[in-house]
Amino acid sequence: MGLSKTIWANPSEIIRVRQPDHPVLVFAPAVLQATARRFIAGFPGLVTYAVKSNPDEMVVENLVAAGIRGFDVASPFEIDMIRRLAPGAALHYHNPVRARSEIAHAVKANVKTWSVDSHSELDKLIEMVPTEGCEISVRFKMPVNGAAYNFGAKFGATAELAAELLRKAADAGFIPSLTFHPGTQCTDPMAWDAYIRTAATICDEAGVKARRLNVGGGFPNHRTQGPAPVLEDIFALIDRVADEAFGADRPQLVCEPGRGLVGDAFTHITRIKALRDDTHVFLNDGVYGGLAELPLVGNIDRVAVFSPEGVKREGDTVDRIVFGPTCDSVDRLPGELALPGDLAEGDFLVFQGMGAYSSATNTRFNGFGQMEIVTALSLKI
Ligand SMILES: *Cc1c(COP(=O)(O)O)cnc(C)c1O
Repeated sequence: MGLSKTIWANPSEIIRVRQPDHPVLVFAPAVLQATARRFIAGFPGLVTYAVKSNPDEMVVENLVAAGIRGFDVASPFEIDMIRRLAPGAALHYHNPVRARSEIAHAVKANVKTWSVDSHSELDKLIEMVPTEGCEISVRFKMPVNGAAYNFGAKFGATAELAAELLRKAADAGFIPSLTFHPGTQCTDPMAWDAYIRTAATICDEAGVKARRLNVGGGFPNHRTQGPAPVLEDIFALIDRVADEAFGADRPQLVCEPGRGLVGDAFTHITRIKALRDDTHVFLNDGVYGGLAELPLVGNIDRVAVFSPEGVKREGDTVDRIVFGPTCDSVDRLPGELALPGDLAEGDFLVFQGMGAYSSATNTRFNGFGQMEIVTALSLKI
């Protein structure tokens, strides 16, 4: 991934001046910092950043500049990167399954907060992690809908098991806490309502007062047409339900957004390689590149088409099947995209709200995926 030091005005200027044949992710630091300040001002607790959603060092540096002081990390690589870029920041090692070598690495790096969702993994932590000032957050799950992608399919204890683990962590001398993830791109705030109330029942069941409750990531970004999600409404619901569910025993709250922080800070410029017999659109990027998560989470329909001169196409839309560049037939966007009928080969298809799970999951499969990241003052198109 190349990094251009030029700062552009906006995506259409990049198209007009450079007409890039490779995929270009356009990063607006001002948008990222504004979103970070919005979380810090509005969320009733500590805001941490889930590094995996976009581990670009420019992203981390801008979050630190905006006041983010905690990070959700999942691997020794992420731990070392954050220690280097943000030496004083809190590290929350919230991948609940770890090799012993990974635990040893994190202990050396002075990680103080760990998640867990099973007896076997908690036993490893009890054996290897010094209890002094250390917090263990039990990750629990619920059969809750509302998100675009179910995170509970891999991680999370049932409420009953969570109560056992919380008791065991407290008895072992750790600071006992709870954590959950409602699922990514969670547009229904009632998922948080259900999770927070269940957290309170887990504490009752365990007879343990949780120090902190981490309400996860899952905060949505603006991926589909219509108004942007209102983060402040979700923050207000979390605050109110935490009071109702816990009363005087309310734990300190933490959140760990990835997508919600970084999603709207990037716009993705792809190019139309071919319009095959006036039907199928072939892009220079697809599901093995920056568009990897669209089949999992759903299409982004905040798209615009620009001519090579940087002029937006405004023709009536036609539903098109859109393919990526590789020879694999799964390299296709889900369903069809409504695109201007006057689009042509050589035009640019611009996706908004592409900051999360895009550069992070880009591959070089079939020789494609030569993605560039550039910086712009604005993402307005
Ligand atoms: C991926 C992940 C996040 C971030 O999720 P988003 O939906 O991008 O906000 C937060 N916490 C944990 C433990 C994760 O695995």
